[in-house]
Amino acid sequence: MNQSDLWTPARRIEQAFARALRRLARRLNAIVKGLRDPRQIIAALKRYAQSKEFRQFAEAVAMKMVTGLFRDMGRTWRQAAAAHGMGRELYQALMQELRTGRKGERLDELITDTTYCIKTIPEDIGKEVAAYVEREALKGRRASDIEREIQLMFPQHTKARAELIARTQVSYTQTNLIKVRAEAIGLNWYVWRPVGGNKGDGRTRTSHRQMSGVVVNWNDPPAPEDLFPRYTKSGRPYRNTLGHYHAGQCPNCRCYPEPIVDLDLTTWPARVYRNGRITTMTRRQFEQVMR
Ligand SMILES: [Zn+2]
Repeated sequence: MNQSDLWTPARRIEQAFARALRRLARRLNAIVKGLRDPRQIIAALKRYAQSKEFRQFAEAVAMKMVTGLFRDMGRTWRQAAAAHGMGRELYQALMQELRTGRKGERLDELITDTTYCIKTIPEDIGKEVAAYVEREALKGRRASDIEREIQLMFPQHTKARAELIARTQVSYTQTNLIKVRAEAIGLNWYVWRPVGGNKGDGRTRTSHRQMSGVVVNWNDPPAPEDLFPRYTKSGRPYRNTLGHYHAGQCPNCRCYPEPIVDLDLTTWPARVYRNGRITTMTRRQFEQVMR
């Protein structure tokens, strides 16, 4: 197994999480089925959002995803340590961290985060319905036409929303889990990797393809859209609404961080991101920056 395969996101866990959220989408569709008046739809979604059944569902699904990833990444770390001759001291620090660390606390945080994300789905969809009604009514459209459109669009929209959250949240959580452990054992740098290697897999956004192989510090997340701007036809760069973030931590991103366990495993010279710029560094230059 090569170094990169080790850190690729766990598809199995993402798929189970996506399945659960699609189940939620179907449930929401069933709840609003037959309701014509948008106000009734919004009220029904709100009622469901506040129900005990839904709260328990959100907590259970979040818990399963986060602890599943946590276990999986534990295995990855052990394999990385074993396969890549991680120094004995580092290895022991890692084992110690996996056994004792602050993982309980951090895991709770990540579970709460994911639960919250799931919990917002029904009410957010309700708000979108309300906004749509308002927008279309302002255009002077007939209420009955708007109602029909909502009924047509609702199932597809709900499903798309659930899938977006599934993709985004799994990779966000995975990056956090890698970060916590890497920092705990003093590995402060990682290599940005898009799914599918240097060229991406066809769905990778251009800026992230260009981030491929760039070395990043956990304390200094880059802004890929600023580093590799896209321009409008009139030659102005698109406004960057995503800001600074780590691999895997913006909507729909499936990139992942590959911790630098050993400088021997990185190809030098390498592109390194620091203070808002990417520069190409030799291993010697990087060693000085590392300190
Ligand atoms: Zn990405």
